[in-house]
Amino acid sequence: MCIRVQLTSADPLIPYDPRRRLISVPALLPPESVLIVVRAILAELAVPQPSAGARCYCGEPVMLPRVSSHQSEGVVMRRGA
Ligand SMILES: [Zn+2]
Repeated sequence: MCIRVQLTSADPLIPYDPRRRLISVPALLPPESVLIVVRAILAELAVPQPSAGARCYCGEPVMLPRVSSHQSEGVVMRRGA
């Protein structure tokens, strides 16, 4: 089972639950910070991270949850575009 990411309303006490392979990120974080936090946690777990995105220990990309609050639909932020 791959590592998953969930948004939590509160500050998560346990950023990573190894039994459920679940990374918890505060929902209030902006989307770009979610990726940074997820990558940092994965790096703590000694999972090599690519230059962009986040990667599971098996090599599959880690799916980040959709951030819907205070983000307008259909707006995709891309750096350098
Ligand atoms: Zn995996």
